[in-house]
Amino acid sequence: MDFTSLNLCQPLLDALDEIGYVTPTPIQAQAIPDLIEGRDMLGCAQTGTGKTAAFALPILDAMAENPRAGSRRIRALMLCPTRELASQIHDNIEQYARHLDIRSMVMFGGVSQRPQVNNLRRGVDILVATPGRLLDLISQGYVDLSHVQFLVLDEADRMLDMGFIRDIRKILTQIPKKRQSLLFSATIPHSIVELSRGMLYDPVRVSITPESTTVEAIEQSLMFVMKGDKRGLLTYIIEEERPEKVLVFSRTKHGCNRIVKQLGQDGIEALAIHGNKSQGAREKALRRFRRGTLQVLVATHQPRHQSGSTQRA
Ligand code: AMP
Repeated sequence: MDFTSLNLCQPLLDALDEIGYVTPTPIQAQAIPDLIEGRDMLGCAQTGTGKTAAFALPILDAMAENPRAGSRRIRALMLCPTRELASQIHDNIEQYARHLDIRSMVMFGGVSQRPQVNNLRRGVDILVATPGRLLDLISQGYVDLSHVQFLVLDEADRMLDMGFIRDIRKILTQIPKKRQSLLFSATIPHSIVELSRGMLYDPVRVSITPESTTVEAIEQSLMFVMKGDKRGLLTYIIEEERPEKVLVFSRTKHGCNRIVKQLGQDGIEALAIHGNKSQGAREKALRRFRRGTLQVLVATHQPRHQSGSTQRA
């Protein structure tokens, strides 16, 4: 199967061709035909499966088929939990829409609102936003969602984990009831089912679970140790095996900090990344890890991964 069999308009096919997408990923092959038909969707898929294109392409296609009459108004709203994800979705949309007269913008908190307000004033067709800043700008009267026809909630479980449910419910009151709604989530706990009941109409369900969650190149071993021996074992493995890069997972932020401290006492430099660390500190640690100037990175599990299969170091 290739993208031409998915009934997407030519400007989108040209863009995909230029970007180098040849074959739709499984979630794209499953989701795009139903979304083009206008169905609501509950999608269970993780980042890395190609889900952004799965929801963005049919929406862009529908918007291209029904060009705006008059000035630009927000016709598609995509909500997601973090600024990184919002920027990523926005970047993808800009790529896919490169031959279309469709303007997308990204909005998130933690930065000055003025450029975002100016951007809104220039007119936007697709808004990709994190819930907090969006609600803030709605309450200041800068955002009009009364023409939204397409709504996407991406990484919905993470948004709920981060406490965005109230913001989301308030935002939903600003959007017309007659719309196409899509909800994507890596896991479908009861809270997501509840949210989807109030938000989706007769949704198609698609589910993509990665075939293999482990990378073939990783050799795995399991060691049974007493709790009190874990620290010594970790130091021993790092000193004996001398691995270039070590990623250690801990269940809690406190546990992460403790491991970093203990490794430090054993003469091994490590840094922690978790939710209590500033964005700057997290990025710096990741950068050093990537460059190879930091051997050990200690991280918490994402809450959404805890219900699935996890590997503990
Ligand atoms: P996502 O799950 O949406 O974050 O996508 C994961 C990565 O796969 C991104 O870098 C996309 O650009 C890329 N991607 C998505 N769909 C395709 C495709 N059909 N062919 C090749 N790459 C793709």
